Amino acid sequence: MTAAILVHLGLGSNLGNRLDFLNQACRELESLPLLKFRVSSIYESEPLLEMRQPKYLNLVLCGLTVLSPIELLEKCQQIENKLGRVRKERWGSRTIDLDILSYGNEIIDTEKLKIPHPEIEKRSFVLLPLFKLSPDWVHPESGTGIRMLWGKWQQTANELIPQRLKLKIQSS
Ligand code: ATP
Ligand code: MG
Ligand code: MG
Repeated sequence: MTAAILVHLGLGSNLGNRLDFLNQACRELESLPLLKFRVSSIYESEPLLEMRQPKYLNLVLCGLTVLSPIELLEKCQQIENKLGRVRKERWGSRTIDLDILSYGNEIIDTEKLKIPHPEIEKRSFVLLPLFKLSPDWVHPESGTGIRMLWGKWQQTANELIPQRLKLKIQSS
């Protein structure tokens, strides 16, 4: 039997009914299935690189899966497509973005899939919810804990910290 692997995913939406897209994506992911499914608070964040875009709603979730990394990526992309994601420009606005942040302690570096996600350390909208959800999470490559990574970001970055909202994900 294949052992289930703990995965962390980062979700973001900045088009249409953002909360509804996060809810729908969580429902789809939960029924993959992702066991022991847990979700962070929802945060509102500024778009990357001061792009002229609406603000994002972001969250991080985790769960156990028996899917392989590529199978998980394909499922995430199917869900993005189902929820009407259209790709135009890189980092363009989107109804939903599902990024694999980590897959157990695996390190994968292919064109199609990079795990852990290469931008984790730079992104407050990932670091903060990841820290709150899984304070014991350790970066598989550097071995640095999430508390330290989030602390470093706060010391060095000159950006607004994402705002935690009172919105809640409706579990199915
Ligand atoms: P970023 O990855 O910087 O957050 P993005 O999420 O806007 O940017 P997408 O358009 O969603 O980028 O994905 C572009 C490609 O990234 C996908 O086709 C996918 O193959 C690849 N990719 C590589 N690593 C990952 C990962 N860990 N999670 C999701 N997609 C990944
Ligand atoms: Mg992304
Ligand atoms: Mg993506």
